[in-house]
Amino acid sequence: MDNFSNVRVRIAPSPTGFVHVGNLRTMLYNYLFAKHNKGKFLIRIEDTDQTRLVHGAVENLLQALKWAGIESDEGPYLTTDNKVKERGEFGPYVQSERLDIYKQQIQTLLEKGKAYPCFCTKDRIEKVREEQSKNKLAPKYDNFCRDLTKAEAESMMRSGTPYVIRFKMPEDKNVIVKDMIHGEIVVNTKDLDDYVLIKSDGFPTYHFANVVDDHFMKITHVMRGDEWIASTPKHVLLYDAFEWQAPQFAHLPTLLSKTKKKLSKRDGDVSVKDFIDKGYLKDALINFIALLGWNAGTEQEIYTLNELIHQFTLDNVHKAGAVFDLEKLDWINGMYIRKMSSDEFYEACVPYLINAKILTLSKGKVVVSSTGEKVAPAYIKDILALEQPRVKKLTDIVEAVGFFFANELTYDAKNLIWRKSDQATTLTNLQLLEKLLHKIKKEEFSKDNLKKTITELIEKNGLDTGGVLWPMRYALSGRDHSPDPYEIAGALGKDKSLARISAAITKLGQQ
Ligand code: GLU
Repeated sequence: MDNFSNVRVRIAPSPTGFVHVGNLRTMLYNYLFAKHNKGKFLIRIEDTDQTRLVHGAVENLLQALKWAGIESDEGPYLTTDNKVKERGEFGPYVQSERLDIYKQQIQTLLEKGKAYPCFCTKDRIEKVREEQSKNKLAPKYDNFCRDLTKAEAESMMRSGTPYVIRFKMPEDKNVIVKDMIHGEIVVNTKDLDDYVLIKSDGFPTYHFANVVDDHFMKITHVMRGDEWIASTPKHVLLYDAFEWQAPQFAHLPTLLSKTKKKLSKRDGDVSVKDFIDKGYLKDALINFIALLGWNAGTEQEIYTLNELIHQFTLDNVHKAGAVFDLEKLDWINGMYIRKMSSDEFYEACVPYLINAKILTLSKGKVVVSSTGEKVAPAYIKDILALEQPRVKKLTDIVEAVGFFFANELTYDAKNLIWRKSDQATTLTNLQLLEKLLHKIKKEEFSKDNLKKTITELIEKNGLDTGGVLWPMRYALSGRDHSPDPYEIAGALGKDKSLARISAAITKLGQQ
């Protein structure tokens, strides 16, 4: 087992207002790694691209983390009344509040001769690019300002010419990135350009702020999506230029759609909020996300958060992209739904039924929206229990149990006829059933008793089982798929069951 001391890891999201499931995976792995190694897990907000800021994005992000039960040790967090506050000794943890630090550090690099001001206009850079693309060369800054003298640069600055600050790339040097997942990655500086460290608005670029902050926040391991691999040699060079020790890097596998393309909005829902709204349970989503790129090397597929913390190591993180398989998520979610107690399931489902306007809360009591009739929680629990073994996600419950609470069912009367039967037989069977149900006492209207009595009816009259049970089930539910008719009738009770059977007889008679 690996063991690291004083581990400090961070997630460094840019507040774009959208928390992709890939971000959640990065957050989870950092959290698991920190907890496994008894280290610290930080949040840092990378908001230096002022053109991409979205109002409320930090709150969204913190809310997603709170929902997931991933708590940070340092950085911004949400108070119980949902205000954003900060904790930790290495703050501020929001980059736009650290501009003085970047200013100071860029000065150091300029003095060391590792960076230089560049006064090239956007137009000029554009022309250079066009020329390069015509000659089939990779786009690269042509180092036009690299050798300006100090006096030349100072005079341009004095005259107010806008400028950026670029990194002075060492010439023809191999940069070695040691990645804990990908192994050694070697890049020659000939393939890198004098990239921008400070933009003309005075804000640092991602590369510069990221490195400065990781250094001053004493980050020991950088774990992030592997779309950042190409940036890492630039970061390593920057650590060298400052003569700082670089953290260890671990680039996590890309999330792929079923067609093995990078998972994007085009593949349907990819934001954490979409999954919450659809009724995926927190523990199930975390369990599923943990397996996107990691595997303990055993057959185990269901993990609690504590088990994940205990078993998570970077040795078991894969290099290859991880396919986001919704069917597996549904399967895992179903497993978690089955594990809920009937009270937990009730608490989890009622908000969805209220949201779908099947139930309404009136003065603290639950009533059926269509009739205004009060319903006892025990009754709702009985109905929910019929579906708990079947549903994959909580939103399925709306479709699955809605018919129990409907005032009147709407369906095509033809559907009452079983495929091996006909209209006349169906009508006769429903009438026989109606008579029989009338005779059963209200207090004996239970699933088991119904089963016994109806089976006797079928046998005594030599009826076809399907020809009786199908129309009965359809009359009670109005749906192609539902629990069995005894269960539905038992849950609905005598009056409602009879009303539905009579309605079916009328409908079919009018055909
Ligand atoms: N701000 C980057 C992002 O949005 C952070 C990447 C990193 O972790 O270095 O993902």
